[in-house]
Amino acid sequence: TEDKLFLAQKQASVGRLAAGVAHEINNPLTGVLTFSHLFMDRQDLPDDVREGLKTIADATERVRKIVKGLLDFSRQTALHPEPTDLNRLILSTVALMENQALIKGVELKCLLAESLPPLVVDPEQMRGVFMNLLINALDATAAGGTITVTSRTESRPDQDGGERPGVSVSVVDTGCGIPEEHMGKLFDPFFTTKQVGQGTGLGLSVSYGIVARHGGRIFVNTAVGSGTTFTVWLPLQRDDARE
Ligand code: ADP
Repeated sequence: TEDKLFLAQKQASVGRLAAGVAHEINNPLTGVLTFSHLFMDRQDLPDDVREGLKTIADATERVRKIVKGLLDFSRQTALHPEPTDLNRLILSTVALMENQALIKGVELKCLLAESLPPLVVDPEQMRGVFMNLLINALDATAAGGTITVTSRTESRPDQDGGERPGVSVSVVDTGCGIPEEHMGKLFDPFFTTKQVGQGTGLGLSVSYGIVARHGGRIFVNTAVGSGTTFTVWLPLQRDDARE
């Protein structure tokens, strides 16, 4: 719990910093982007100038993406929970990834519970969590590998030694796995092993925050060389005091 508290504090302060920086960066960025597009539209440009402008526009677009990630991360938007069919949410999220999986040659499949009790969650934020886990799984998995999304009802022990009923959703990949020395940093904001422009290191920390605000938890199980399972557990009954 001490670790968690520390993480929460760290997230809160990084969040404030991020929001400030992101706002400051956004305005000049819009100027750069607007003018590079404006000049690119001119007919009388030498090829090398057009190429240069395109490089400027692409790089700016990338910075914009990172800034947007920062804003999403820092916003800590209020939850809009509603009774949600989690299986349907999973299927529609997986559908968004099918093309990318196909292109990469990774099999993407679902093994969902026949029926799940309706959960009261913010569907769009939860979709963001599943999306993040799926993107990470796809990034970690080479052609010929498999990503499986499962759902099931599952109770977890609560603080008073009782059982709390809930639902677990796992994203299982047959990818590279996560080395031991990275495990402690996984959920830290900005921790990434991806190349510049590929990852912001915000996916898991944002996801952690969203799941925590639903009263849930994220578990990781991994073995280098054989794959990783991320499991999101959500309680059936939300504890409103936690928000
Ligand atoms: P990002 O994806 O932008 O790097 P995340 O917070 O989502 O940020 O992930 C942080 C890091 O955790 C990744 O860079 C990667 O090293 C590791 N990681 C996350 N998911 C997986 C996975 N399924 N398999 C292997 N490594 C993973």
